[in-house]
Amino acid sequence: IELINQIAAGEVIERPASVVKELVENSLDAGAQRIEIEVEEGGARLIRVRDDGRGIDADDLPLAIAAHATSKIASFDDLERVTTLGFRGEALPSIASISRFALTSRPAEQAHALRIEVDGGKPGAPKPAQHPAGTTIEVRDLFYNVPARRKFLRAERTEFGRIDELIASLALVRTGAEFRLSHNGKPVRLLRRAVDEAGVAARVGDLLGEEFVGQSLRIEHEGAGLRLSGWVGLPTASRAQADSQYFYVNGRLVRDRLVAHAVRQAYADVLFHGRHPAFVLFLDLDPLGVDVNVHPAKHEVRFRESRLVHDFLYRTLNDALAQTRA
Ligand code: ADP
Ligand code: MG
Repeated sequence: IELINQIAAGEVIERPASVVKELVENSLDAGAQRIEIEVEEGGARLIRVRDDGRGIDADDLPLAIAAHATSKIASFDDLERVTTLGFRGEALPSIASISRFALTSRPAEQAHALRIEVDGGKPGAPKPAQHPAGTTIEVRDLFYNVPARRKFLRAERTEFGRIDELIASLALVRTGAEFRLSHNGKPVRLLRRAVDEAGVAARVGDLLGEEFVGQSLRIEHEGAGLRLSGWVGLPTASRAQADSQYFYVNGRLVRDRLVAHAVRQAYADVLFHGRHPAFVLFLDLDPLGVDVNVHPAKHEVRFRESRLVHDFLYRTLNDALAQTRA
């Protein structure tokens, strides 16, 4: 079992940022409105994620760290319409098999929290603990028992940069949650809950720069069962931001060739002078029209009607951009 978990871990957990992704997505799936991420030494020493989500029942605690236990899907049918971020039930056992791991949780209606520690995959007995309603997960000494992986960790600054980038990508879409991120005890980001459109714009400004918000076009378009919203940088924007390209499908960040092609084409027609535009776009469609279960890292998607999606994206963006020249 340990070996299986470690192999699964190899697929999903490449670096500290992958751990942060799994943990924060679990917090979001648990309905958290406040998520605090503390990182030490680029995540190699410590990653601690605290949330105020619904917590884990005492009975379910051992299950949460058991392989292929997920509370999020009950049948194959559900797999076709996943709306939660996680659904494979392999993240926690994988992470726990390659670190010194601790999970403390209390559902609001339970008087006490329970804490369970797992050392390199070996779980101890759950013990009573103090904790507000919600969950804290601590991951220490990531890869301490997988030296080959540990060797491949980059400089502390690089690993932290990836974590920061990951948090930014989640915070852009989950604007209803507050995010706090610190590194080696120093606060790095404090993103407050956005409660209205202005709050959302403020968050986008926080993450991509005021300049981006000021010099971008607001997109809001619906048709053929598809909905596209967000911001696209104008061809006239003074600064190219190739690294600020975010595309979400049903709330999930994707890097998809079809999407990239449609966006590039839309800009190509309006003379972008070969620069890379920044954009934050959200495509929403019936979950049955898209397969997100392509790869464990879940960055790729497969659209059932890919031609339709491509043309919708291209037309919507191209029309919007063309208007700015008229
Ligand atoms: P998955 O997210 O694919 O279900 P995970 O291994 O990431 O699998 O998590 C296992 C289970 O542990 C989840 O299904 C959920 O029930 C529970 N869980 C994990 N993290 C949290 C959290 N922060 N708050 C509440 N429940 C959690
Ligand atoms: Mg998960």
